[in-house]
Amino acid sequence: MATRVTDQLVAEEGRIRCNRCETEICAAEENYKLWSLQEVVSIEDVPGGGNPAPFEMGEHLELRRFYCPGCTRQLGVEVARPGAAPLFDIELRA
Ligand SMILES: [Zn+2]
Repeated sequence: MATRVTDQLVAEEGRIRCNRCETEICAAEENYKLWSLQEVVSIEDVPGGGNPAPFEMGEHLELRRFYCPGCTRQLGVEVARPGAAPLFDIELRA
């Protein structure tokens, strides 16, 4: 029986897959973001992100969007420092 991981992902038989197109993304214990399609844009290019001064952000950040490799549905989004590994925000354990 599949277990819901997020609104877009399910885990079944040790694998994470897209719940729309059924594409397997990775093993359940892996970070699905490492196996997803990724789009990276500068935070300054995001509407409202052009002037980071009011938020006291002293460093450059980027917006990352992660998509299913099968159907290109957006699976997740995060803001991070350039070069930082994708946040491992969903960890499944047996
Ligand atoms: Zn999909």
